[in-house]
Amino acid sequence: MALCFELPTYLKQLEKLVNVDCGSYTPEGIAVIADVLTPMFEQIGFTVVRHQLDEKAGPCLEITNNPGAEHYDVMLSGHMDTVFPEGTVATRPMTYDEEKVYGPGATDMKSGILSAWYALQMLTTEERERLSIVIALNCDEEIGSVYSRHWLESIARKSRQVLVCEASRPTGNLIRSRKGNAKYEIEFHGVASHAGSALAEGVSAIYELSHWSLAIKDMVNLDTGTTMNVGIIEGGMAVNVVPDYAKATVDLRFWNTDEAQAIDERLREMSESPFEKGAKVTVNRLTFKPSMQPTADTQALIRLVSEEAEKLNIVHGWEDAGGGSDGNFTAAVGTPTLDGFGPMGAGFHSDKEYLLIDSIEPRIKLLANVLKRL
Ligand SMILES: [Zn+2]
Repeated sequence: MALCFELPTYLKQLEKLVNVDCGSYTPEGIAVIADVLTPMFEQIGFTVVRHQLDEKAGPCLEITNNPGAEHYDVMLSGHMDTVFPEGTVATRPMTYDEEKVYGPGATDMKSGILSAWYALQMLTTEERERLSIVIALNCDEEIGSVYSRHWLESIARKSRQVLVCEASRPTGNLIRSRKGNAKYEIEFHGVASHAGSALAEGVSAIYELSHWSLAIKDMVNLDTGTTMNVGIIEGGMAVNVVPDYAKATVDLRFWNTDEAQAIDERLREMSESPFEKGAKVTVNRLTFKPSMQPTADTQALIRLVSEEAEKLNIVHGWEDAGGGSDGNFTAAVGTPTLDGFGPMGAGFHSDKEYLLIDSIEPRIKLLANVLKRL
């Protein structure tokens, strides 16, 4: 099938995907996206199966040219949700000028999904018969793929490699590794008392939290890239009351999953011997994403992608990213994973989000040419 890429058509299709409120917590909006994409993929000869993995979540789409396959040559990964709440589209729908497209999810990652659809059409009939392809589109990437993680991992285990279609960077870079991350909620319980008449009878949850906050600061290792941030603290009731409750929400990022595990153990040990006599601490890990690290097989894939990029005169490089994606999960099951196969963009998760128009067509060709070589 020959690709006929025309920018006005692409932008019209993109607009249909961007101008729908489809945050992770707006499942009905994600269903609208699935409704738009399903006939598009069916029209190019793919089978689409819709999964409802949790009643609170939107649908996920499993799209393949080889239904019932035990094995896929390649898995393309993308997400249909955005970080934006309902009402965002009404205040700032998709717009564009000569250089950039703006709008919620334009580059993260509606354009990545649309570009993958275009790239598949550039494969010849023989190439499509030779390759067993699956495209997994989930509904909850922006909240850590809490519902779809196991589904994604099961597809990745059946796949020889994974290409994640998140945006490439404005520098042209694709992504070869991503830091892992975890989010902790740490709760501190003390004993309330009157700050004037019974100070000594109280146990301050805020003092306990303060010790923890500084201890966590000391766990940061900038050399290895294991970093922590106490991002939110809450607690206390009144200025004249010794506070019996406080809470800290903490972000952990790491390249080395063993270091993250050691920190987890250290936090749990600390909770067993609080700094303040009489305080109680509970440590709750809310989310955990392993780091995405290239293996020897991934290195071979990196070389292949770079060769194809050079043939197309595409300026590119390979980036080690601090943020995570679903590539972290697929790499962690042992499947070589690379990310950044969407067009170039930046400003993710903000109203400054943009997509670079000039990068759309070259990146479709790059993805198509990489697929042809797998
Ligand atoms: Zn994304």
